[in-house]
Amino acid sequence: MKNEPKIDPKEILEGIVEWIEIESPSHDAKAVNLMVDKVEGQFRDLGLDLDRTPGRDGFGDILEAKTPAEWSTGQGKGILVLAHLDTVHPLGMKEKELKIRQEGDSVFGPGIYDMKAGGYIAYYALRHLIRQGKKTKLPVTFLFIPEEEVGSPTSRARIEEAARGHKYALVMEPGRDGDKVVTSRKGVGRFTLTVKGRAAHAGVRHEDGRSAILEIARQIVRIEEKTDYARGITCNVGLIRGGSGVNVTPAECTIDVDLRVPSMQLAEEMTHWFLNLEPIGKEVELTVEGGMNRPPYQKDAGITDLFQKAQAIYREIGKELNDVPLTGGGSDGNFTAALGIPTLDGLGADGKGAHAITEQIYYSSLQPRTYLCARLLETLE
Ligand SMILES: [Zn+2]
Repeated sequence: MKNEPKIDPKEILEGIVEWIEIESPSHDAKAVNLMVDKVEGQFRDLGLDLDRTPGRDGFGDILEAKTPAEWSTGQGKGILVLAHLDTVHPLGMKEKELKIRQEGDSVFGPGIYDMKAGGYIAYYALRHLIRQGKKTKLPVTFLFIPEEEVGSPTSRARIEEAARGHKYALVMEPGRDGDKVVTSRKGVGRFTLTVKGRAAHAGVRHEDGRSAILEIARQIVRIEEKTDYARGITCNVGLIRGGSGVNVTPAECTIDVDLRVPSMQLAEEMTHWFLNLEPIGKEVELTVEGGMNRPPYQKDAGITDLFQKAQAIYREIGKELNDVPLTGGGSDGNFTAALGIPTLDGLGADGKGAHAITEQIYYSSLQPRTYLCARLLETLE
């Protein structure tokens, strides 16, 4: 047919640029909500049923958009599409280091790769099906998250609740260079160690002091040594603060640790290890707080099956889809996969430079990625 609607990469890019023009750092609820307004309006125009939950704890709103019952041939548990509308970049980047621009196949802009292109691709994919007059086999729910980049503290429960009510989860996080998607991710743990020692004059009463910094220093060595690349475990002491003056034995010191593990078993093992750490020196107090922030996302039979369906779709356009080896970066896909919901992640545009001033997508990936998303929405049953 001559007038059959086409997936038009130029049109997709125009839509993505409108989204990245609205800068939306996670901690700026007002800015994020301008982005939510934009997406809400677009899904309202498509005719979806909307549910917007006011943000809390200084974060933006959560937006849910569902296809009306008559749009799908089947009912019951459907497809959950996850995207976050926040970015790591502060306001003003689009005028400075991350000017919105195209250079050859690369298109730059704040949050374009992680993950406004992905969110827009999902929107466009559904719109494409509507334009073609097609129905999906399953109902589709889009859930837009306002604070994924800080660990989804206010939306995690909502994501998990939504996941339980759906058959599949499609996560529109950045794709990986060379037609790759994500089928597993490490789990992420966060721990805070606080040591209380005893302050004393460093010159006059040094022997009375108990250095919290010395104790933490010893703990750091022990923690960093737990990193085991062969088993996929990494421990990173990323923050440290302590002491009150150069001539005072430090009474207090605190560190924050980031843990990454590939399996639930290692998550439990390492959590137990952290929470049972004992002081190394004498007469100091150690407290450990924390736990797993995102559970591991492991490629099980359901995920393998979903990935194979995606591969079959990609072959329709003569391309081969692959998955990346286990990645250390967590996403909201960790929550859905840990609940046993077949989850396919990294469905957004190809590109590189997430969280960096080199952040970019590849224009050439927009058409195939949108095709993949549209056909997944259309054919999953
Ligand atoms: Zn992201």
